[in-house]
Amino acid sequence: MSRIPVIAGNWKMNLLSSDAAALAKSVADAFAGLSGIECVVCPVATSLHAVSGVLAGSSVGLGGQNCYHEESGAFTGELSPQMLQDAGCGWVIIGHSERRKIFGEGDALLNRKLRYALQCGLKVMFCIGETLEEREGGQMDDVLKTQVVEGLAGLSEADFAGVVVAYEPVWAIGTGVTASPEQAQDAHAFTRGLVAEHFGAAVAEGLRIQYGGSVKPDNAAELIAKPDVDGFLVGGAALKADSFNAILSAAAQA
Ligand code: PEP
Repeated sequence: MSRIPVIAGNWKMNLLSSDAAALAKSVADAFAGLSGIECVVCPVATSLHAVSGVLAGSSVGLGGQNCYHEESGAFTGELSPQMLQDAGCGWVIIGHSERRKIFGEGDALLNRKLRYALQCGLKVMFCIGETLEEREGGQMDDVLKTQVVEGLAGLSEADFAGVVVAYEPVWAIGTGVTASPEQAQDAHAFTRGLVAEHFGAAVAEGLRIQYGGSVKPDNAAELIAKPDVDGFLVGGAALKADSFNAILSAAAQA
C-alpha cells in the first residue's frame, strides 16, 4: 500500500499572529506547486484564526498543538476539539514529548484525549518516543510498546483512518542530533509491528508514521527514503519558510 507522506510543522510556543500568518502564506504558496504529499501547520492557539484565514483556499491543513477531552466547562487554560474546529483546525497533535515531560501527561490521559478528538472528527498526530536514558538502557522497545498499546487503546479500525503516529525520539527533539535513517527505520518498523500485533495487519499497513527530531532540509531526503518513514513532524526547521519549504520539496520528490 502506498501511504501519502504527511509533513507537519509544530510551531510550539513561537510566533505572534502576524508572523504566523506570514509564514503560513509562504508555506501555502510553496505547497501549491507540490504534489503527492500532505502538509499541516500547527501554530499557537492565539494565531489559529489568523492562520486559518491565510490558508483559506489552500490545501495546507491546520492543527492545534493539544486539546482536552471535554467539550466545555471548568477546565481553565484548556481547549476543546470543538474550539479547535471553530478556529479552522482539522488536526491536533496529542502526546508531544513536551506535553508528556513538562506537563506530566501520561498514556491514560493521552488516550482519553485521542479518543475524544477522533470522536469529534479531528485527525490526530499522536506522538511517541523514548528518551536517551531509555534507549541506552535497553528499554526502548518496552517504552514504545507501552505508548502504542496504552496510548492507542480502544481505537477501532475505522478510528485509525484519522490517526498518524509521530515517532519522535526525545533525544533528537530540538537537539540538532537527528536519528540516522537506519535508527528511524528500525523504530518505525518496530512501531508498525506493534500496531499489527495489537490492532491488525491492515491497520498497520495503512498507518502513516512520521519521524520527528531535528529534521532539516539536508537530512529529509535520506529519512523519507526509508520504507516505513511516512512523513515528518518538524519543530525548529518549521519556523522558517525556507527550511520548511525545502523539507516539503524533499518529501515531494521522494
Ligand atoms: C518537535 O518538537 O516535534 C520536533 C521534532 O522538534 P525539532 O524538529 O526542533 O527537533
